[in-house]
Amino acid sequence: MTNSEYAVWHGLTPMGPHLRENGPDLFLVSGAGSHLEDAAGRRYLDARSSMWNVTLGYSCETVKQAMTRQLDVLPSGTVMRYEHPPQVTVDYAAALVALLPQPLRHVRFGNTGSQMTEAAAMLSRFYRRMTGETDRHTVIALHDAYHGTGPLATALTDEPILHDYSAPIDGHVVHVSTPPPVTCDPDACTGECVRPVLDAIESVGAERVTAVMFEPVSGTSFLPAPEHYLETLIVECRRRGIHTIADEVTTGAGRVAAMSYVERLAEVPDMLVLGKGLSAGYFPLAALVVASDIYEALADPPVRLGFPNGSTTDGHPIGAAAGLAVLDILTADGFLPAVRRRGAELVEMLDAASQADPRIGAVRGIGMMLGVELRDADGQLWSLRDVHNLRGVCREYGLLTSYASGVMPLLPHLTVSTDDCRELVERFAKAVAAYRS
Ligand code: PMP
Repeated sequence: MTNSEYAVWHGLTPMGPHLRENGPDLFLVSGAGSHLEDAAGRRYLDARSSMWNVTLGYSCETVKQAMTRQLDVLPSGTVMRYEHPPQVTVDYAAALVALLPQPLRHVRFGNTGSQMTEAAAMLSRFYRRMTGETDRHTVIALHDAYHGTGPLATALTDEPILHDYSAPIDGHVVHVSTPPPVTCDPDACTGECVRPVLDAIESVGAERVTAVMFEPVSGTSFLPAPEHYLETLIVECRRRGIHTIADEVTTGAGRVAAMSYVERLAEVPDMLVLGKGLSAGYFPLAALVVASDIYEALADPPVRLGFPNGSTTDGHPIGAAAGLAVLDILTADGFLPAVRRRGAELVEMLDAASQADPRIGAVRGIGMMLGVELRDADGQLWSLRDVHNLRGVCREYGLLTSYASGVMPLLPHLTVSTDDCRELVERFAKAVAAYRS
């Protein structure tokens, strides 16, 4: 099929080179467990959970049935305006906040991670307008951050090429150019670990900064930010009156074998963004969870104005029903420990593959959010292009993966079986062996 005959235009893909280099797309027609089947009858093991979001595989009956039941009783609804939120959405919000650290207590619903990271930054600015700190509008984001796309979300994402070609974008976003430390010893901590962020705040002027946004585990490097680093960051921001926003679109809802990464911290950020796994990818669902003091300050604002951010399908009852079913699964006895164990098992298998092929390096990440280093004979990490090309070879071996610079992301669903892990590693090792050999 030639480019001009193809009606689908992928989100972030230049269609010409994509179709020329990869050949025609494969059209998925069915899925069960970890596996997908295309229109030509080929089977693939999905090691990327679609777009890191299908956290319970493709045949989770509990979620499907909850959605079907909801479809029968109230198939649509909204929390965008008016006095009639769907009951299931109200119940879901209560169930969700009960699983998050206090004082994160109020939920704004949306459909995508990008919508909610953008909403978080806008809410921080709106709060400043309403509380009289009108100079505070700069948002600081971290090195290599991915926070989605959109006028403000693109600005928050640290990909300069996106900025150049999306210009003009929001001009009040600053990126810290140094990555967070890989380790951080709380006993020896002098606070230097957060110095690059504090320097960025100082260079803007603390009184002009409204928020700092961070991903607890980078979806680019797959390196988790040390807990003490994040705690220090939150404390130092709070000391300066700056909001902290944790973007857990990928890490939240089970991916790192916990409801949220921040639950392990001694300090709680002011806002938390969730997405992807919230509905196990069965419905577009994302959430911005806000600390009570922000909610209280805006409940009776000096100007009679609600936060002007929301869309028609926010709080959709089918998404809420899916979300409630997902929470039931995540909170079932032994579920999250099992994710942790299965993740460790997958790491062990990858370590064994690494013994056999030195190009397969160390495994980064946590829970079921893993990135395998790929290294040349001289120890250099592979380029983004090489990992991208390896992804194409993996596909030929029946394995669907994402790609990142120097690391192959592996994010199968949370309940992936031991057999499927074995199949995943076998196919991956074969693809690496076949690549440029
Ligand atoms: N933040 C993070 C950390 C993400 O990983 C993503 C998606 N990859 C987003 C935001 C954007 O979410 P969405 O694609 O649903 O808009």
